[in-house]
Amino acid sequence: MSSKIKQLLTQKPEGQQVSVQGWVRTFRANRFIALNDGSTLANLQCVVDYENFDENLIRKITTGAAVKITGQYVESSGKGQASEIQVSELHLYGSADPETYPIQPKKHSFEFLREKAHLRVRTATFSAVMRVRAALSFAVHDFFRAEGFHYVHTPIITGSDAEGAGEMFRVSTIDPKNPPLNEEGNVNYKEDFFGKETHLTVSGQLEAETYAMGLGEVYTFGPTFRAENSNTTRHLAEFWMIEPEMAFYDLIDNMDLAEKFIKSVLRYVLVHCKEDLAFLDERFTKEEQSKPQAQRSAMGLLEKINFVVDNEFKRVSYTEAIDILRNSKPNKKKKFDYIIEEWGADLQSEHERFLVEKHFKTPVILFDYPAKIKAFYMRLNDDGKTVRAMDILFPGIGEIVGGSQREERLDILQERIKAMGIEEEELWWYLDLRKFGTAPHSGFGLGFERLVLFATGMGNIRDVIPFPRTPQNASF
Ligand code: ATP
Ligand code: MN
Repeated sequence: MSSKIKQLLTQKPEGQQVSVQGWVRTFRANRFIALNDGSTLANLQCVVDYENFDENLIRKITTGAAVKITGQYVESSGKGQASEIQVSELHLYGSADPETYPIQPKKHSFEFLREKAHLRVRTATFSAVMRVRAALSFAVHDFFRAEGFHYVHTPIITGSDAEGAGEMFRVSTIDPKNPPLNEEGNVNYKEDFFGKETHLTVSGQLEAETYAMGLGEVYTFGPTFRAENSNTTRHLAEFWMIEPEMAFYDLIDNMDLAEKFIKSVLRYVLVHCKEDLAFLDERFTKEEQSKPQAQRSAMGLLEKINFVVDNEFKRVSYTEAIDILRNSKPNKKKKFDYIIEEWGADLQSEHERFLVEKHFKTPVILFDYPAKIKAFYMRLNDDGKTVRAMDILFPGIGEIVGGSQREERLDILQERIKAMGIEEEELWWYLDLRKFGTAPHSGFGLGFERLVLFATGMGNIRDVIPFPRTPQNASF
C-alpha cells in the first residue's frame, strides 16, 4: 500500500521504504519532483538520480503526469522541506504533454481556470478551496447530528411552484418540437411525465416543515436551483442549501441556532483546515493589496473568520436599519444605486454591505421585515405589517442566511396566500400542517457556497463549487 502524503509528512524520516502516488506539480533540473496527491496542500519532494532511469521515462515526467514513486523517506538537506524521498522506483501511469496540458506552473487567472474546470483542482488554490468545502460540508452534518437533528432528503423535482423564491427550471419529457396541446392551444402538461407541470426545486423548506412536524428538528442539505438571470459573484443557478426546520422554535431561538451553527462550522475549519486556510489567507491578502485602498478588506481572511467566531452578531430590526440607511452618507450623497426613501423598501446588496462593513462592522441579523417584501409563509406580527423574518448579513457577502418563524395559524396563512395571488389548492398539504396539530416552528436557509466563499476568502462563487452553473454556462 502506498502512503498518503499528508500522513507521510507526520512520520519521522528514518530511511524507511515508502511509496506515494500522485501528480507531478513540477520537475526541476531533471532531479526534483514536487508531488501532490490531494491529501494535503504540501507537495512532497522526490529526488531522482536521472542516470539511474531510462531517458525516455525521465522525459515524460512533466507537470501534470501521474506517477507512483517508491524510495527511502529521509531528512532533506535542501531548503523548503524537512523530508523527501530518494527515488528508487519510478512508475509513470500517464504523462501530460506540456504543449497541451493547460495547468502549467505559473499564475493562471481564475477566469482561465473556469474554462478548465475539469483540471483546476490540480492547482494549489482550488485544491485548498475544495478541501475546505468538503470539511465544511462534514461540519454541517456533524453540528446537526450533535444537536439532535435528523437529516431529511427533500425532493429535487417539485410539483408546487409556490415557494416564491424565484424563477424555476422546468422538468419535462415533452418533445419541444411536437408538444401535446390542449383545447386552448397551450402545451398540455397533463400528458407530461408527471401529469402536471414540474420544476427543479428552489428550496426544500416546505417539505422540511412537514418533517419537522413529526421528527421535531430536521435539516435538508441538497442541491437547489434558481433560473434567475443574475450574473453576480454571489449567485449560481445550481447551488447547495442547508435548511434546518425546528418545531417549537420562535424567531429568537431560530437566530440563536443560526448564529451557533455558523460559528460552529467555521470553528471546525479553523481547527481542521489550518494549512489550507493559512495558504488562502496569504492569497487573500495578496489579492486585497492589488485593490485600491478604499476597496480593501480591513481584515485578513483568518482574522475575519476569527472575528465572526468570537463576536456576537448584531441584531437589528428592519425598521432601525432603514433609519440608519436613510440617514447614511451614501444615501444622502446619492452614492447608492437604489436610494432608500421609505420604510418598506427592499434592501439591495449595497445596503446590506453598508450595514455590515461600514456601519456595524460585524455580522448583522436583520429581523421583522415588511410583510410585502417577504414570502407568504412568514409569521405575521401583531402590527399587521411586518413578519417574523430574519436575514443574516456577512461582510463581503451580503445575505448568507434567510429565515423566519413560520405562520402556524391557518386563517392568517390562508389570507396571506390569497393576498399574494397563490393558488391555495397547490398548497393543500402545506395547509394540512396547520389543520392537524399545528405548532409554532421556525427555520432558515443558508447558501452553502456563500459560506464557502466566506471561509476561503475567494471573490467569486463560481470558484467555490466544482462545476458552476450560471446563465449561458453548463459545460462539464
Ligand atoms: P439574494 O437576495 O442574495 O438573491 P435570496 O433572498 O434569493 O438571496 P433566499 O431565497 O432567502 O435568498 O435563499 C436562502 C439563502 O440561499 C440565501 O441567504 C443565500 O445564502 C442562498 N442563495 C439564494 N440564492 C442563491 C443563488 N442564486 N446562488 C447561491 N446562493 C443563493
Ligand atoms: Mn435571490
